[in-house]
Amino acid sequence: MIYFDNAATGAVCGTAKEWATKAIEEFGNPSSPHKAGRAASELLASARNQVAISLGCKADRILFTSGGTEANNLAIFSAATKNFRAGKKIITNNTEHPSVAEPVKALEKQGFQIVYVPVLGGVPDYGVLESHAGDACLVAFMQANNQTGCLFDVEKIRQILTDTHSKALFHCDGVQSFCKTDKAGLLTKYCDTVSASSHKIGGFKGCGCLYFGEKVKLSPMILGGDQENGFRGGTENTVGICAFAGACAERSAHPEYLEKTKELREYFISLAKDALGDKINIFIPAEYIDCIVNFSINGLSSEVCLNYLSSKDICVSSSSACSVRAKKNTVLPAYGLNDKYVSGAVRVGLSHENTKAEVEALVSALKESAKFAR
Ligand code: PLP
Repeated sequence: MIYFDNAATGAVCGTAKEWATKAIEEFGNPSSPHKAGRAASELLASARNQVAISLGCKADRILFTSGGTEANNLAIFSAATKNFRAGKKIITNNTEHPSVAEPVKALEKQGFQIVYVPVLGGVPDYGVLESHAGDACLVAFMQANNQTGCLFDVEKIRQILTDTHSKALFHCDGVQSFCKTDKAGLLTKYCDTVSASSHKIGGFKGCGCLYFGEKVKLSPMILGGDQENGFRGGTENTVGICAFAGACAERSAHPEYLEKTKELREYFISLAKDALGDKINIFIPAEYIDCIVNFSINGLSSEVCLNYLSSKDICVSSSSACSVRAKKNTVLPAYGLNDKYVSGAVRVGLSHENTKAEVEALVSALKESAKFAR
């Protein structure tokens, strides 16, 4: 099998397995005061420290969650509950992941006004953000998009909020960018809340975290014990959290993973253009992360392309794994991509573990699949 769906999820890395094994051995409940509990609690603290180092923040600013979805929900509903006095307005855009878009829609039903900033070509219309920032309680813009790899400029967004003296909190979905671009270091510098997910970087599924800055007040969604400083009840998922920290540690120890992914992207794009010429349209946003490439082959539907690749044991995807059941892709048109492009859109999610030979196999299968174009 050749796996090019790393934006959906990826293989568990070696260091994540090592850290998880330690947590399996130290099986105590971190809340227990005895020796076994203390050992688990120490492990949890060192995992929190590692994730904090990777995010560039203090350990007490991190709250572990069941993944990116929960972290996004928590940040958005907290901002609406605790900061609505700044204005019952939320500023976002039409390319956000459903775990941001749906909570925002739920808040619209509760009376919040939602402003969608146009993002043609992947560049937000900053004038719209500027004109609405004054009376908003929340600005929700992701860093890297899961379907296209498009990167939004978090520094510029913060600058606008500062210049307009906005009291809005800035939430950023960092799930696809955390540990996957040098620019992820900007997240905790410029955003009030940031979500991250373990399984996108080599950890387990079902684990993630929310970074929350000093001025953020959280409104817990899961009530129970006083774990996570009372912000999220429930015995901590120590094995998952340690695997998450292990994945972070591995990524910090191997900055060359990013370079390798960049090389693979460039190799894929040049081979695909050589093989398919003007039959392939590759969407290159104004700024992007290297691990996601979105393209469309003229006259070839996503379904036919995916099925053909699948028959060759090559895994790619048509859009995000979380929205495969959603009927209409509303993300790609927001960038200005037309219906023809959208109906054939394919996402390749690269990892440092992919090889040039795999890229060659992918491109030659794509060339064959183009024979089914209508
Ligand atoms: N945000 C983005 C941009 C994603 O790509 C995903 C997962 O695909 C999520 C959030 C949800 O993360 P999780 O699967 O950890 O809930």
